[in-house]
Amino acid sequence: MLNRTAIEHQESLSKGSYSSRELSEECLKQAEKYKSLGAFLRIDESEILRQAEESDTRRKEGKLLGPLDGIPVSIKDNIAQNDCLLTCASKILENYRSPYDSFVIQNLKKAGVVLFGRTNMDEFAMGSSTEHSAFQKTCNPWDPKRVPGGSSGGAGVSVASCITPLGLGSDTGGSVRQPAAFCGVFGFRPTYGRVSRYGLVSFASSMDQIGTLSRSAEDCSLLMSVLNQTDPNDSTSHPLANEMPISSDVSAFNPQDIKKLKIGLLLPDKGMEPAVKKSIQETAKAWEDSGAKMIPLKASLGEYAIPIYYIIANAEAASNLSRYDGIRYGSRSKDSDEIQSLYIRTRTENFGAEVRRRILLGTFVLSSGYYDTYYKKAQIARAKMKEEYLHFFEQVDFILSPSSPSSAFCFGERHDPLSMYQSDLLTIPPSLAGLPCMSIPVGKDEKGLPIGVQLTAPSFEDVRLIRASATLAKMNETFVPDFTVFTK
Ligand code: GLN
Repeated sequence: MLNRTAIEHQESLSKGSYSSRELSEECLKQAEKYKSLGAFLRIDESEILRQAEESDTRRKEGKLLGPLDGIPVSIKDNIAQNDCLLTCASKILENYRSPYDSFVIQNLKKAGVVLFGRTNMDEFAMGSSTEHSAFQKTCNPWDPKRVPGGSSGGAGVSVASCITPLGLGSDTGGSVRQPAAFCGVFGFRPTYGRVSRYGLVSFASSMDQIGTLSRSAEDCSLLMSVLNQTDPNDSTSHPLANEMPISSDVSAFNPQDIKKLKIGLLLPDKGMEPAVKKSIQETAKAWEDSGAKMIPLKASLGEYAIPIYYIIANAEAASNLSRYDGIRYGSRSKDSDEIQSLYIRTRTENFGAEVRRRILLGTFVLSSGYYDTYYKKAQIARAKMKEEYLHFFEQVDFILSPSSPSSAFCFGERHDPLSMYQSDLLTIPPSLAGLPCMSIPVGKDEKGLPIGVQLTAPSFEDVRLIRASATLAKMNETFVPDFTVFTK
């Protein structure tokens, strides 16, 4: 039963085919069976079963809290959950317990969700492979020699290996979409401002968004219907979240509507693996065969996307991470007798190499004399990029591109940070523009590794985007991988 979607589970729970407790017990067994994949940092079995039993009681009493009641959802370890460890896969927060619930966790609790364990990630969400976790490795379920993508690698694996039907991740420059593509699942990054960042540990605040991982586009709308709410505690939360709700049962476009769609095709000049190129051509053809019009687009700033992102994201990260000084937050180095060395030792001993690199670069681009040369210039280029998207969306309804230039790579293959950063070539531009995007599985390469394509929509067109994703997934039955291989 574990390869079922959340919507299918909901139907079975309603019919009484099984209870939330029975479902949760199966998920726990699956987590044990695939423990070696390393998707989870922590799973609290008794707490999970307690939540499931509460849901079953509500069901018996006719007091269900909504369509997600009793469904297990995994949580990335940078999303605050009251009285639970919140490590961000970093040594500096190894023993940090959150004293409050993030807005999304408050909402999931109100919806009766079973909060199923904390998933592994790159330290502070900085990375594209989950190799930067300070605690453990996470393996790709389709080939354990390979990475699951990152930074929400644990979330991708939890959903792909059918431990949970749904996962919560976070996406700054691609951290939901790229692991979704590598693991063969759907990864949704909502419009910036749709989902509150209250209680999401900040990395680059102008881009951080909580997103969903699921095995169908419809399941994404189910989870988004609960996450999408305006929050007075987050000044970047947008009023349109409440004014444009996401219903829990978004469905595919009908054939007449598909014929009216115009889809832009945006490809990188170089760097795409042949299998990725082939998948994107097949996807474009599937749209065309259904009557949609494909329109090629050319991004004038594409080659600058990575530098722009790594200037802005690192500048914001350097500022956001300054709070981990061993005094206000975080593990404290033991051997210091004065304040300066306490700061230096605490941060040197407890941050990993990638996080330190980003703090150094971010501090540099904000420093006097370099601010205008780097940071200000990057902000100007970012504004130009946003304008270009507005221009694109005067011509097309959605933009199609690969989610990643390659399928999942092997552990250790991208030691050089610049080659790792290339993974985000196609996910970064919509992040800089704050746009909603979905990574949709569209089959596998010759090595049997999943490939994803990314659809991007105009701001706040999240519902149409989910509909388009559901439509695409239905066009070819080999697009979405067969997850029963993990449940046999
Ligand atoms: N891989 C990108 C980075 O390392 C994106 C990470 C993210 O979206 N959190 O910055």
